Amino acid sequence: MDDYALVLNAGSSSLKFSVFERPSGERWHLESRGQIEGIGTAPRLSVKDEIGNSLANKDVAAEDGSEAIGALAEWLRSMYGGSRVLGVGHRVVHGGARFTGPTILDADVMRELHQLAPLAPLHQPYNLAAIEAVFERLPEVPQVACFDTSFHRGQPEVAELVPLPREFRQQGVQRYGFHGLSYEFIASVLPLQAPEIARGRIIVAHLGSGASMCAMKDLKSVDSTLGFTALDGLCMGTRPGSLDPGVVLHLFQGLNLSAKEVETLLYKKSGLAGISGISSDMRDLLGRSEPAARLAVDYFIYSAAKEIGALTAVLGGLDALVFTAGIGENSAEIRQRICEASAWLGLEIDADANNKRETKISTSRSKASVWVIPTNEELMIARHTGRLLGLAAKAA
Ligand code: ADP
Repeated sequence: MDDYALVLNAGSSSLKFSVFERPSGERWHLESRGQIEGIGTAPRLSVKDEIGNSLANKDVAAEDGSEAIGALAEWLRSMYGGSRVLGVGHRVVHGGARFTGPTILDADVMRELHQLAPLAPLHQPYNLAAIEAVFERLPEVPQVACFDTSFHRGQPEVAELVPLPREFRQQGVQRYGFHGLSYEFIASVLPLQAPEIARGRIIVAHLGSGASMCAMKDLKSVDSTLGFTALDGLCMGTRPGSLDPGVVLHLFQGLNLSAKEVETLLYKKSGLAGISGISSDMRDLLGRSEPAARLAVDYFIYSAAKEIGALTAVLGGLDALVFTAGIGENSAEIRQRICEASAWLGLEIDADANNKRETKISTSRSKASVWVIPTNEELMIARHTGRLLGLAAKAA
């Protein structure tokens, strides 16, 4: 293989990575993708090539994120010994109000990003630790941060507002929106895959373990269901989505839960997992017959239909609905049920096209069209990294 760019997505207990061969012009070729899971408990490296053949599946030593980077570096050396890492692109969850696009990392930028850690305590510190571990091991390799918030900057002021006293805004309390790299990727492919609606009023539903929707007009974000943190909006695997803040007050004042307990409850134990008491995994829940599993799925659909209604109001009408991410791309049943619950909008799905997961799944009678478009956040990060660092080899 030629020299390559590395894309990293570092979490609290996992490090996901993709290796892209140096691009020729705009074309990027994925060499391999994988992850180290169970960091700190039972770390295991698994890697596949671009067509899904296993390249590695073994225990590694990784007590923390820095050691995980070390274990990855060792595997990369063994696999791509003769090739150089030209640049590393990172998914960084929070870019605050200031980072409106991908940014080359240096000490000043890192200082600012650390200041945002309290706004995303479960993600940002791990994202930044990975960057620091790469700087330590490969100080000469340039690194780029790509933010989950950037795509949403430029939203109207009312959409960003958290209606508390003004001084809180100065302390960073505003709606930021997340999953921005996914939405940016979808916006980048819409003109090719769905040219007839690309410039219209679109809701993109990113339905994965974390789930949100983005209202787009002319390919730009005008609102999204995730706000100040990744807790708002849709019901998610382990997060509740929209919640009366009075419930949180009651957890503290009435039930005397600690801040840590409330954090764990809201981020790890609510949503599908909390309602069902069985699983946070949609595929798992769809296969179960227990009433609690059904109720969790019913609430997911209810919450999605409600948010579609709200975002349609924001957009002043709807031209298209796009499904993406794990659930959105893979579950015909969930797509169908969400569209049925939104039938008042004139949405009508073609059952055959939906089951075959065609790109366009609505009937010709449907008032707004419905699409399934796979997302690719890693490729988005690779593209940004390549562009900022000037990595593309001259096209032959
Ligand atoms: P993340 O990247 O946020 O971890 P993904 O986008 O990979 O999440 O989505 C994971 C979710 O997608 C899980 O709830 C999983 O059950 C669901 N999923 C994947 N395939 C299917 C399927 N065939 N049917 C229903 N749900 C699915």
